Amino acid sequence: MTDDGGGATVLPWQGFLPWQRAAAVDALAGRATWPHALLVAGPRGIGKRTLALEFARSLLCEAPAADGLACGACASCGYVAAGQHPDLQVVEPFTVDDDGEVKALDAIPVDRIRALIDWALLSGHRGRAKVAVVVPAEALNAAAANALLKTLEEPPAGTFLLLVSHQPGRVPATLRSRCRRFPAPQPDGDAALHWLEAQGVPDPAAVLAQAGGAPLLARLLADPAAQDERRQWLAALAKPKALSPVALAARLEAAPKDERKLRLGWALDWLGAWTADLARVAAGGTPARNPDFASALSALAPAVAPAALFRYHRSVLRQRALVAHPLQPRLVAETMLIGYRELFR
Ligand SMILES: [Zn+2]
Repeated sequence: MTDDGGGATVLPWQGFLPWQRAAAVDALAGRATWPHALLVAGPRGIGKRTLALEFARSLLCEAPAADGLACGACASCGYVAAGQHPDLQVVEPFTVDDDGEVKALDAIPVDRIRALIDWALLSGHRGRAKVAVVVPAEALNAAAANALLKTLEEPPAGTFLLLVSHQPGRVPATLRSRCRRFPAPQPDGDAALHWLEAQGVPDPAAVLAQAGGAPLLARLLADPAAQDERRQWLAALAKPKALSPVALAARLEAAPKDERKLRLGWALDWLGAWTADLARVAAGGTPARNPDFASALSALAPAVAPAALFRYHRSVLRQRALVAHPLQPRLVAETMLIGYRELFR
């Protein structure tokens, strides 16, 4: 549900990801002075949500291993695995109705945070700790962030808040300043490839390049529907003179309503990676993100002015950062594509 690359599709209880383990063991060695609020920050698609959930499981575990990690066998670990631990709350911007239908929200509403605070003030069920995970923290609206802030000023003993964000600059500064920052570890290329192979992802090097080295995002993009959609977008970008912004943006409307923002996010990622590759090729380099479109990029690169390309690329990144907010996905895509076509006028 989040666009953290893995989001709600991650199998949460397999333990820390391989590239997180050493840093997690280090952090958990200091569990006696674990901060009331931790901000897990880092790029999208590297497993920050998994990291935060694993921290929660380790903090709640009733018989942690010598290295501080959750034992996976105690009653608490069992409740967490079943998604039923009374001392763990995970707050994400979606709702589930009585029929089990999941609906994405633009923001985490204040009533969710008020309920979280009420929960925090109750005494814990299993007496170990109480952990709340908020993913992503930039989805807290202003009222929700303010409500949370009041609790952080006088945190109930034994209660830990884990905020997850790939845009920490968008988390209100008043909230951010009360958190200890934990930079989420990033895998090197070999670790990421190895993990993708173990996940059974076909052509892992190609999707990892597309994802800019973020393995959980790569696994998501490996989905055949995403790969097909990418090819459609890039084939259109490769022929800017023939490009119809209206027709291409209309592809977003073909997706179910709930998925349109996710699809817009992909489209903007592809546009951002494509324009970055254009700049690389224009400067005499090779495409880092789209090597499968190398000849199209080489043909286009001489036609575009570097300064305009740079400005346009920045505008794509700015728009990408806003995707979680109320926007008309089709209109945003259309505007960005009109801007792209202008680069070749
Ligand atoms: Zn345990």
